[in-house]
Amino acid sequence: MRKQELARIRAKLEAQLAGLLGEGAEMVHRMSAPDDGELPDPNDRASRETDTNRALRLRDRDRKLIAKVEEALARLDAGRYGLCESCGGRISPARLKARPVTTLCIDCKREAEQRERA
Ligand SMILES: [Zn+2]
Repeated sequence: MRKQELARIRAKLEAQLAGLLGEGAEMVHRMSAPDDGELPDPNDRASRETDTNRALRLRDRDRKLIAKVEEALARLDAGRYGLCESCGGRISPARLKARPVTTLCIDCKREAEQRERA
């Protein structure tokens, strides 16, 4: 992959990471905001609990994505970006552009998916 393309992918990953971290901080802030007292209606209380569960699930997913983006940036720094984790081959630039955090080439990805299904 050319230097220019790698620079573009790095910028994309850094922007994504900043967005994820920004959203996460905002969510934590909202969740730790002082409680405005006991809610009299049990339905209100239930819906609030659902919101909190949803926020926690979202953060779990974000955390995983943040880790993936950070790993991708580390691979860029180490000069190992774009190499398949499984077979060591090159991942196609088209695939990397579509999914910059990927660690598998398309063949290994298909194989992994087939194993998961089996
Ligand atoms: Zn591979």
